[in-house]
Amino acid sequence: MKTALIFGITGQDGSFLAELLLAKGYDVHGVIRRASTFNTDRIDAVYRDPHENRATMHLHYGDMSDGTGLRRVIAHVQPDEIYNLAAQSHVRVSFDQAEYTADVVATGTLRALEAVRDHMKAGGKPVRFYQAGSSEMFGAAPPPQNESTPFYPRSPYAVSKVAAHWYAVNYREAYGLFVSNGILFNHESERRGETFVTRKITRALGRIKLGMQDKLYLGNLDARRDWGYAGDYVEAMWMMLQASRPDDYVVATGESHSVLEFLELAGEYSGLDWKKHVETDARYFRPSEVDHLRGDSSKARRELGWSPKIGFPALVRLMVDYDLDLAKQERTLAEAGHRVVFRGSAHA
Ligand code: NAP
Ligand code: GDP
Repeated sequence: MKTALIFGITGQDGSFLAELLLAKGYDVHGVIRRASTFNTDRIDAVYRDPHENRATMHLHYGDMSDGTGLRRVIAHVQPDEIYNLAAQSHVRVSFDQAEYTADVVATGTLRALEAVRDHMKAGGKPVRFYQAGSSEMFGAAPPPQNESTPFYPRSPYAVSKVAAHWYAVNYREAYGLFVSNGILFNHESERRGETFVTRKITRALGRIKLGMQDKLYLGNLDARRDWGYAGDYVEAMWMMLQASRPDDYVVATGESHSVLEFLELAGEYSGLDWKKHVETDARYFRPSEVDHLRGDSSKARRELGWSPKIGFPALVRLMVDYDLDLAKQERTLAEAGHRVVFRGSAHA
């Protein structure tokens, strides 16, 4: 049985990856942050109480800003594979929290790599390391973007991801570590954070449809993204660590759509006269925008045998369906007298 350690297990991708690895028979360990409220919603379905014998998923407290803690977890878990998915992952928020984003995303990755380097030098089990890179690193570079496209980051988040990418490359070259960078284009799901534009749209449409919300406020509708399904993308992460040598791979569908196209398709599928409910709010514009991301993932398809299974219309439909169900649950709770608070439209 292989052992995997996931930084960022409570996030969208961490939850899909944990499920994938558990299904493959891995012993899965994840690092979670201490919070004053529970933050394990996305993994609760696969979590088993550690007092039960059949528990194969184990959670440890840690934070990418705390290198000592990361070292301790690695020494304790003795992983075969580490997936570094932990990040302050919101581009708009990174303009407000630039230093924090750099500390977690860039220096956090460095801390993890330093820990792995020392762990192996001290005779620890060989570790394979996956670094979660982003298409945001390409920023203003024109599409299609592939592994040879020069980075042109346009936000503190993207700059930090570029630094993390190069730390990873450097540790591979300097110390011979098995470190692979996935350069993943946007990937969404019913578990996507509710302040990313796709989920913000489907969440609002579900609530508007049921009369629980009237308006959806958005920023730039012209930006184009290459949107895939998160469940497909975590497979690519795993495949990278099964390859015979470490490398860097773009993971994308190869198709791009504008925010407006996503909104139109989701609105039509919801059966709503959606235009009546959507307004622009300047607070959601970014100080510097990324206009067009469309990935060329031929290398991952050729060398890893990866390909996406869920296309754009299916992705939109599954998110709308899920969020309509969620809105129905909220309405039932509200009708039963529970206080249902929704802050979606107020945030990034
Ligand atoms: P996400 O839902 O925002 O999850 C981020 C995870 O990182 C969460 O588990 C979060 O914990 C954790 N985290 C945040 N700050 C941390 C810290 N200081 N120390 C330890 N953990 C911390 O992001 P995602 O969509 O799953 O994305 C996974 C990774 O891929 C991220 O690195 C992201 O930047 C990158 N990426 C994502 C996309 C995409 O389209 N989804 C595309 C390219 C790259 P809490 O749950 O406690 O907040
Ligand atoms: P990103 O590609 O990682 O920045 O993912 P997001 O889902 O946050 O944003 C995708 C695109 O949608 C960006 O070009 C945003 O400017 C645009 N966008 C338009 N309105 C909104 C909004 O209200 N929230 C967010 N998050 N993005 C928006």
